[in-house]
Order: sequence, then structure tokens, then C-alpha cells
Amino acid sequence: MNAAATQPAHDLIAVMDPATGETIGEIRRFSQPEVEAAVKRAQAAQPRWAATPLNRRARVLREFQKLLCDRKEQVAGVITREAGKPMAEAMGTEILVVLDCVNYLVDHVPAFLRPERVAHSNPIMKLKRGTLLREPYGVIGIISPWNYPFNLPTTQVLTALMTGNAVVLKPSEFTPFSSLEGQRLLCAAGLDPDLFQIVTGDGGAGAALLQTDIQKIVFTGSVATGRRVAQAAASRLLPVVLELGGKDPMIVLEDAPLDVVSSAAVWGAFMNAGQTCLSVERCYVHESIYDRFLKLCVEKTGKLHVGGRTDSAADIGPMIHQRQLQTVREHVEDAVARGARLLCGGAPLPQLGPNFYAPTVLADVDHSMRIMREETFGPVLPVRSFRTEDEAVALANDSEFGLSACVWTADSRRGEALARRIHAGAVMVNDMIACFGISEAPHGGMKASGIGRTHGKFGLEEMVRPKYIDSDRIPGMKKLWWYGYGPEFFRQMNGFIEFLFAKKLRNRLQGGLKSTRSYLRRKLL
Ligand code: NAD
Repeated sequence: MNAAATQPAHDLIAVMDPATGETIGEIRRFSQPEVEAAVKRAQAAQPRWAATPLNRRARVLREFQKLLCDRKEQVAGVITREAGKPMAEAMGTEILVVLDCVNYLVDHVPAFLRPERVAHSNPIMKLKRGTLLREPYGVIGIISPWNYPFNLPTTQVLTALMTGNAVVLKPSEFTPFSSLEGQRLLCAAGLDPDLFQIVTGDGGAGAALLQTDIQKIVFTGSVATGRRVAQAAASRLLPVVLELGGKDPMIVLEDAPLDVVSSAAVWGAFMNAGQTCLSVERCYVHESIYDRFLKLCVEKTGKLHVGGRTDSAADIGPMIHQRQLQTVREHVEDAVARGARLLCGGAPLPQLGPNFYAPTVLADVDHSMRIMREETFGPVLPVRSFRTEDEAVALANDSEFGLSACVWTADSRRGEALARRIHAGAVMVNDMIACFGISEAPHGGMKASGIGRTHGKFGLEEMVRPKYIDSDRIPGMKKLWWYGYGPEFFRQMNGFIEFLFAKKLRNRLQGGLKSTRSYLRRKLL
């Protein structure tokens, strides 16, 4: 059900084409009672879904995959229209990731949800059979941002559904139509509309969702909003996943192939107009190749074509809105005022539209500058040199964020050793950003970049509650640790601990004997 379309048209939010600033549609601002009603419908539908055999749940996902594959150009068009990114990026970084996620879920969730036998090491506990179940939470609330308006919410929604949950999603007010498109396809694939509902609106609708009876919240967005979400969740002890901002470093060692790493830096900093949580936000290059690296980056940046969605040659689209453009502007101005060298770009491109910013390369930046400390989230590549590996690691770790990082070198073993020293949720050696497209790879950050994971096995674990079932194999036997204590119980326990943990075999055997004798003398209540 597209709730946004069936309600009376009041209290609307206009959705803009970021390339032109024109209104492309409107969404409703859901009220608190409406959000609560959506959660109640989801709650009512979820137990039936959780009881639905996995192969039937998988069938819905497979059908969704087929429909999405058939309609990929139309969906990519919706993404591009509201998020501004080139169609090729919408295909490669949004639709492809979602299609692959279905394969992962259908292939892995059945084994993941299979009851797991838990072996006990303590000899007394061997009398019990342990089983670990993974049960769905019930209704999962998802709040998402605008920069990947299709893949971020949809991969999370599919993971929640396949593990037996219902979902109420609050998409970004700047890009709601991509999510609504995903919802339409899932319902066309046979999903009960109550199992996946969308409540539209701005932060107010997100805050309203946090006040409902959802059992978990998966939030993706800025650190500032993430903190507010965590505070609201804490007051209810609601479990959270927080996928927040980043300030991802790129380290280029002296043996890295220059042509490759310069192309990497340019793509890593500018793709999606730099509005990717895993974008290269800081670049550290060994001093021996620094000047040649910068020259190549500037040359390659000069070849990029900036344009709107109707420009099929566009490599870089607009920024999402004026506020984001203003942040980029301020960070670049601050860096230049503090001594950074502006090698290219450095200004908006109003002749193209209200939100375009020229791809920018800055050299000689340092950590006193906002551009090296705060998330810029725009098409800027700030570069500085380093002398030693230790210095590069220290610079990379000198940040409140810890989402991802990348290391570039001809020697991948050296790169992997360096990767282990970097404080981030993921570190790629000789690649960047792409780990988000690996369904098996857990995604998430440390420090201010967030809590918890999406994707991969850890992402599945976030969608379920572990339940431990303990079943005693000898129901007719009183437990050795029950009442009837007295001095013999002390001796029994004393001996038992000796039996388990004494260093010498002789002491262990004596302990075992002592413990058994005391047990036989005891009269259990
Ligand atoms: P944002 O924090 O402004 O908004 C995110 C969502 O939260 C939106 O849907 C918004 O309406 C909602 N919201 C706002 N106030 C709220 C409140 N008080 N309670 C509940 N919900 C509220 O972020 P944004 O500008 O949409 O997205 C950009 C940010 O997202 C960047 O910082 C980026 O790094 C981050 N991001 C992180 C990841 C990741 O996986 N770590 C992925 C993509 C984007």
C-alpha cells in the first residue's frame, strides 16, 4: 500500500529535482497517530509472516528481483530524478547492489536461521542439550538518508523481511520516491502490504516512529541525528543500529601504481558528487610521489563532465540541496584561508543549476582545517603528504570517525598489515567503496561512525533476537547445586573446581574423587 497516495492531501512536502530546483512531486507528512497506526498494522501481520516457510518468503524476494531486473531503467530513472546522480551510477551502485542482496539472502538466511546446537564444555552441563534459536524482532523501524535512496533502505528492508520481521520505513524527505518504488515492486511480488509500510515526512515522522511500539530501529544518516535517535531509543531501551557519517582516509604508499591510484582518488572523491558515506574525504600520499600524484589527479579531474540528469555524458551530478553545497563551500574556503593550495575547482557552477559544485582538488591541507576534520560530503579531494608509514597511520586515525579507509600499494601484504592498524569498520587494500557492494561484507563503523552492522552475517544478526533453549537430558534427577548445602556441599564444589582446573593430573583426580564422595553423602532437598 502506498500510504502516501491514499491519504487526504494535506501538510505536504515538496520534493525537488536537485539539478534544476524544480518540484517533481509531493509527499505527505505523517502524523504521530498515523505512524502508530502503520506500526500496529505491521504488528498484526508479522506473526503470520514469521510462520511462513522460508521458501515462500524467498519466492517473494525472487519475484521482486525479477521485477526489479525487468524495470531497472525505470527505477534508475526515479533514483536519478530525485537524487541527481548519473543513471550509470544509479544502475551500478543502487540497483545492482539490491539485486545481489536478494541472492545473498535467499542463499544464506535458511542456514542462518536453522536452530544451532550449542555444545557445553563444563562436564555437569553436558547433561543438558543447548539450542540457539534466532527469532525475528517483530516490527523493525528503518530511517534512511537521501544519498543512496534505493539501495540503503531496500537492502535493510529485504534483510528484515527475509528474517521474518515486518518493517515500517521512514525514507528521506528529499528522496522518498525511490523507496516507494521498491515498496510497489515488493507488493507486486506478492508481499502483504502491511508487512512493509512507508511513512513519509521529515525528521518529525522519524521522531514519531521512535515513539511507537517498534522493536528495533535501524538508522542511517548524520552523526547529529544519530545521537538524537540514540537518545530517544535509550529512553525506551530500544535496540539500535546506527550507520553514521565518515571521514574516510586514503593512504597511498610510494610503490603504488600512480596512474591507477590517481584514477582511484578522483573516482573515490567525486562519485555521487562526493556524497557517499565511504567517499575519500582525506588523502595521504607518500612525499616521493606527491607532486606527480597531484598533477595526474588535476589532469583527470579536468576531463570529468559535470551535468544534470538529462545530460547523458555527465560523470558528476548536482549536490542534493543548498545546505550541502554551502557546507562544501565553507570547508573549501576555510582550507584555502588556512593555507591549502586550490589546484582546480573550488566554486559552485550556477550556470548548470542551483546545486552544482565543481570537482575540487586541494593540496597541502592539514588537520587544523575543517576539511580534514568534519564530514564534507561533496566533490572535494583534499591531499597532503606523509613521510613514514607510522605517520600515515597516525594521520588516518586522527579523526572522530571510523567508517572505512583504503590503502594503496603494489605489495598487498604490506597493505594488509597497514590495514590492521587503521581504526575503521572496513579497510580496503587497493580498492575503495566497493566493499559496500559485497553482500557478504559487514558494513558499519567505529567511533562516531556508528554502532552495529548491516550486510553480511553480522547484518543478519542485527535483525534477530537470539533465544537459548536449555533442555535437561535427565528430567528425573535433582541438580547437584540445589539446597541441602551443609559442609559436604562446600567440599563437593571445592573438589569439583580442583577436578576441572588444578594444574597437576594427580590433584585433578583427587578433586574428582572428593567431589563425588561428598555428593553421595549429601541429602538434596
Ligand atoms: P540526516 O541525519 O539529516 O537524516 C537522515 C534521516 O533521519 C532522514 O530520513 C531524516 O528525515 C531523519 N531524521 C531527521 N531528524 C530526525 C529525528 N530527530 N528523529 C528521527 N529521524 C530524523 O542525514 P542525511 O543528510 O539524510 O544523510 C547524510 C548523512 O548520512 C551523512 O552524514 C552520511 O555520511 C550518512 N550516511 C551514512 C551511511 C552509513 O552507512 N554509515 C550511509 C549513507 C549515509
